[in-house]
Amino acid sequence: MCEGQDGRTYAEFVRNRRNELLERIERAATSAGRSADEVTLLAVSKTVGIDEVRVAFDCGYRVFGENRPQELKRKVGVARTDPRLADARFDMIGNLQKNKINQVLGNAACIHSVSSKTLAEAIATRAWRRGLRVRCLLEVNVSGEQSKSGFSPDEVRDAAQAIMEMEGMAVEGLMSMAPASDPDAARRCFSGLRELRDELADRTGNPLPTLSCGMSGDFEIAVEEGSTLLRLGRIVFDPAFGNE
Ligand SMILES: *Cc1c(COP(=O)(O)O)cnc(C)c1O
Repeated sequence: MCEGQDGRTYAEFVRNRRNELLERIERAATSAGRSADEVTLLAVSKTVGIDEVRVAFDCGYRVFGENRPQELKRKVGVARTDPRLADARFDMIGNLQKNKINQVLGNAACIHSVSSKTLAEAIATRAWRRGLRVRCLLEVNVSGEQSKSGFSPDEVRDAAQAIMEMEGMAVEGLMSMAPASDPDAARRCFSGLRELRDELADRTGNPLPTLSCGMSGDFEIAVEEGSTLLRLGRIVFDPAFGNE
């Protein structure tokens, strides 16, 4: 745990940054006629260790995100033996391969990255065998970038109903990642995600309340466009973010 350049401790940095983030979220929500209470701040802990997670927990974070099954399992294991991290929740936010599903089941509170119908089937089968119902989000590639995984909007239109009917699955909403460093494209991505959710909710009768979108560089736009779950990594944990 390093001292900041101006002598502040890391814990002070995380606490001050959190207060600043909550203010910015509040302002963005208000400007869009929303309540900031509708928005959960998930701290993406994939690049930090359990000590930084403890610091963040002490500052008020309760929801964490990991993108590698092994690391998620490891951190959840530590958290379960640490009474100070008792109500920490870890979500799986990264690409999930079928052979890693069992590491995530029973450990992740929610899987954000259900990116195809075959993956959904594989998760559902394993969950059902273990008597679990997995909370999950369908990841949609709204922007259509080649580099991004997820359902295309048409694929999710075709598959959503069937996935919602799978025994082992509790589909709670949609997730997306916006193109980096392009505010207009980010806004189109987030509003497209919301419109797709509204359409699917109408058609299926499942309200799909969760919209997981918004990262360090675009979270205020995401709040304005209806995000309920921001996934923030660098801006939460990295004192150098924004200074590069
Ligand atoms: C790393 C990651 C984030 C956080 O990105 P930052 O730009 O550091 O806020 C959010 N979502 C996913 C899926 C990620 O892999």
